[in-house]
Amino acid sequence: MSGLKLLVLGTTNQHKAQELEELLAPLGLELRSLRNFPQAIKVPEEAFTFAENAQAKASQQARHLGQWVLGEDSGLVVDALGGAPGPRSARFAGPNATDQQNNEKLLRELEGVPPQRRSAAYVCHVCVADPWGQIRARAEARCRGRIAQVPRGSAGFGYDPLFEILEYHRTFGELGPVVKSRISHRARALAQLLPQLRHLMEG
Ligand code: IMP
Repeated sequence: MSGLKLLVLGTTNQHKAQELEELLAPLGLELRSLRNFPQAIKVPEEAFTFAENAQAKASQQARHLGQWVLGEDSGLVVDALGGAPGPRSARFAGPNATDQQNNEKLLRELEGVPPQRRSAAYVCHVCVADPWGQIRARAEARCRGRIAQVPRGSAGFGYDPLFEILEYHRTFGELGPVVKSRISHRARALAQLLPQLRHLMEG
């Protein structure tokens, strides 16, 4: 079995890929994006859980490319909406929705809901599959917050201008990458994943 030396980030979302690249940097692994692989497949995100979607993205792409692949699925879980948009976060306002359209829909759905009932969490599930499609490492983490009444700040992507971290009284849009890279759902999931990857690099 060939050990882990080169890892393909199995996402076409450039914002996510950049965050993942920075969080994986301490490992010194050779990282590639799907842009380096024109033959990459588009793995459908049809499952109802972050775990199943992340697993499909890692496993199917790894088998197809014959490479180690990291699959990531993430999204926003809003308590007052019964956990929506969840794994459908990217397509909340429709199949080709922009971040702005998704944010506008979220604000519409929460119209009249007071601040104490606007609690939410970002969730991130990451899986790493070997070139045969076997899942060899996985982690999941959350970051709790609250949906603001209006978008604030322009850092980050997706729902970041609406996702307020209570301790800071600021949205991720206002806080920027230094804070986000320490406390986000993705940062916390990667902190759990890194020791597992170190082990695979040694094996
Ligand atoms: P997917 O995992 O590619 O299906 O899409 C994840 C979607 O969840 C993104 O398009 C965003 O709408 C949202 N999301 C996930 N992580 C973040 C984040 O760190 N900031 C803002 N939005 C996020």
